[in-house]
Amino acid sequence: MRIAVIGSGASGLTATWLLQPNFDVTCFEASTEIGGNVQSRTIQIGGESLKVQLGPTYLLPKDYTAFFEILSILKVPTEKISMQLSVLDEEGGAPFASPSLRPLRLGLLSNMTTAKDLIHLRTILAESLKLIKRSDSSTTWRDFVTSLDVPKEFIANVATPIASAFFGLSYQDVGDVSASFGLLYMALCLPTLTNGIQFGRGVVGGTHRWIEVLGSKIKTGTVHLDCEVYRIKPVSGDKVLVEHSQGQEVFDRVVVSAQPWIAAEIVDDEELKKVLRQFPSFPAEIAIHQEPLVNAGKNNRSHAMVVAGKDSAQLSTYAGSAGGEKIYRSWITSGPKFPEPILANHFYRHLLPLPAIVNAQKQIRTLNRKGSIYFAGAWTHDLDSHEAAVRSGIGAARALGANNHLLSELGDPKSRYGFGTTRF
Ligand SMILES: Cc1cc2nc3c(=O)[nH]c(=O)nc-3n(C[C@H](O)[C@H](O)[C@H](O)COP(=O)(O)OP(=O)(O)OC[C@H]3O[C@@H](n4cnc5c(N)ncnc54)[C@H](O)[C@@H]3O)c2cc1C
Repeated sequence: MRIAVIGSGASGLTATWLLQPNFDVTCFEASTEIGGNVQSRTIQIGGESLKVQLGPTYLLPKDYTAFFEILSILKVPTEKISMQLSVLDEEGGAPFASPSLRPLRLGLLSNMTTAKDLIHLRTILAESLKLIKRSDSSTTWRDFVTSLDVPKEFIANVATPIASAFFGLSYQDVGDVSASFGLLYMALCLPTLTNGIQFGRGVVGGTHRWIEVLGSKIKTGTVHLDCEVYRIKPVSGDKVLVEHSQGQEVFDRVVVSAQPWIAAEIVDDEELKKVLRQFPSFPAEIAIHQEPLVNAGKNNRSHAMVVAGKDSAQLSTYAGSAGGEKIYRSWITSGPKFPEPILANHFYRHLLPLPAIVNAQKQIRTLNRKGSIYFAGAWTHDLDSHEAAVRSGIGAARALGANNHLLSELGDPKSRYGFGTTRF
């Protein structure tokens, strides 16, 4: 069987890797590099260079069970990364800073306001986790925070800015987002008696390292770079015609792992187009810069900083140092601060996690079971995570009948709360 995979992000590349022992697989990638959202830029500063990760960085081992299983098969090492977070105002003051093992930061707990704030955050995360456990994706952030027994000031000054910064949306727009997605990653790290503590991890050397290793394992399959697919058209005999920038070919099956708004343009099927158009997106920008967005005092600074403005907040993370200078990476989609000068940047479109996408995801999974066109991609399951990406790639390989040593070794990694699978 000849199979085409459209897109070489984490999902498409995982599908290609798992399909190649059984089938004749060709992966088409519009860009000149594999990896999709797993992007990095190398910047030069003071005679030194630094490779900065732009896309997925934070990985949660207790929830990313399939992904960590793949990393173990590929022998890709991971390391603990800081999950510490501060919420800063535009002058660098800190309405909120999570404590750490640094003695000065632990001192924060002796401050009554800070201790109370931690309890408020814990309440919000525990309530978020309840939404996740009962697969409630229809409650919006706006309705959720109104129902909580937490002071309005804490919601306005801390919780909503964090959600706004995580999504790159204004405070107004983040109100429409599904509340179970709002502080999802923080909620999954909430220590509980049954779950214990979870620390975020990152791939040693950057997330692109695992993509490079995965890419090196594509041996009998082929990856065509700089080869954009324009149209996918069902033809007679249940086959599919794939038209791309280097010609056209007929395949028995096609896995579309490109973003849904692109998939909607290329599939030549009205029913599929209608469902794919239900996934909204918005333009986003990530910038690498040298000057911090705001000058916060040493005790207020964290690895991840949320800068809260009047109408929106933005996320800025410490990316490393080169030439004696600290380098930051910020999402500057909705302001309020625009770093100057920008050393490198990346423009892309981001999925808008409205409650309606959960229904669209269900429809896509139903349509996946018929015809010769299958959909993969982080957007097909829960909230656009790396776990969802690799699980969708595994799902496509299994649905197409792949049966090999890699899939046996992978087994069926269980996921708490169904994260990355089909439950929410
Ligand atoms: C800034 C940012 C930060 C993130 N941080 C995290 C994080 O910390 N943790 C986490 O778990 N997740 C994070 N994510 C989510 C991330 O999107 C997923 O983890 C995952 O990388 C998505 O993989 P994918 O294969 O589904 O999609 P993509 O990576 O979007 O891959 C789609 C591929 O299809 C290709 N393509 C599109 N159209 C065509 C066409 N017509 N022809 C051929 N090829 C085409 C694209 O070029 C691309 O390579 C982040 C995402 C972003 C953008």
